[in-house]
Amino acid sequence: IRTIGILGGGQLGRMLSAAASRLGLRCHIFEPGAAPAGDVAWRVTTAPYEDEAALRAFADSVDVITYEFENVPTSALDLLESLRPIRPGRRALAVSQDRLTEKTFLTEIGLTVAPFADVPDRDALDAAIARIGRPSILKTRRMGYDGKGQVRIGDGPADWTGAPSVLEGFVTFTAEISVIIARGTDGQVAAYDPGLNVHEGGILRTTTIPCGQPARVTTDAVLIAARIANALDYVGVMGVELFVTPDGLIVNEIAPRVHNSGHWTQAGCAVDQFEQHIRAVAGLPLGDGKRHADVVMENLIGDDMDRVPALLAQPRTQIHLYGKGEARPGRKMGHANRITG
Ligand code: ATP
Ligand code: MG
Ligand code: MG
Repeated sequence: IRTIGILGGGQLGRMLSAAASRLGLRCHIFEPGAAPAGDVAWRVTTAPYEDEAALRAFADSVDVITYEFENVPTSALDLLESLRPIRPGRRALAVSQDRLTEKTFLTEIGLTVAPFADVPDRDALDAAIARIGRPSILKTRRMGYDGKGQVRIGDGPADWTGAPSVLEGFVTFTAEISVIIARGTDGQVAAYDPGLNVHEGGILRTTTIPCGQPARVTTDAVLIAARIANALDYVGVMGVELFVTPDGLIVNEIAPRVHNSGHWTQAGCAVDQFEQHIRAVAGLPLGDGKRHADVVMENLIGDDMDRVPALLAQPRTQIHLYGKGEARPGRKMGHANRITG
């Protein structure tokens, strides 16, 4: 394998391209919108997912296709899949594109998720609230990220998300952790240590490693992630978000790609999640997940960019900037990995 096609040209595609380049491989990005990855990738195609000729030319130029964005339309995936292998495969995408499918799948393989109800339209909401109770969270089945498409249901009248949704019982967690796990074409699995995630306004703020949870919790978390990866016959890196509760771990959601909460691996591990993903989809042996440092990863969101000069002066701190241009509120512009031990 020489050339990897990546669907999606955001910062994840950019960091994947840089990792591929270090391994002597090259990346061709397919992105309908603006592509921060464009300055690092070998080639960029800017075209809508409906452009069949562009998709064919893209597939023809690559050996394998992966993605950094899971909401690629099914029609585009059908065409691409007939031309080149897609890793991770369609099952992982189908499951994670839709929260209802995802929660159903997780339940079927014996894992615990928050109580949930299908809410196909506004008329179904009252019955769902009666079943799940308050407080709860209404989430669109598709397309949500960074807390977008979510409505908190409190005591008052409930808002509607505007699209088919699931209602989730509110989980009183003691911590949020995530596991970044990789699975190779041969079924080999390598996991990184779980990180502690702090969100603000639905957006990841920091990930801290080690996560401060006892070994029985971190071991359980890794076993859960491995069970999901095996059940999906997964190839590549996957992020699994979990709630820690007094009654055990609850799976929040999975992301079939490199994950923001895995950025710390750039400073904490010999093989970071981006190189690991490229190795997996290229059919190369995986690196191990062993950690050589404690790290705090902090996202640089919107005008956090004003702090970059101070962060650059801070010792033992790695700065990653995505070259995105304008720093709008809520926009992820970069991150800092501070080595703390
Ligand atoms: P991401 O950017 O991680 O894909 P998302 O938009 O898919 O985010 P979720 O991960 O579902 O959103 O939720 C965002 C955050 O909201 C969670 O990390 C958690 O802090 C909080 N949250 C979500 N669901 C629940 C729940 N059922 N109970 C309590 N808190 C929740
Ligand atoms: Mg999500
Ligand atoms: Mg999430």
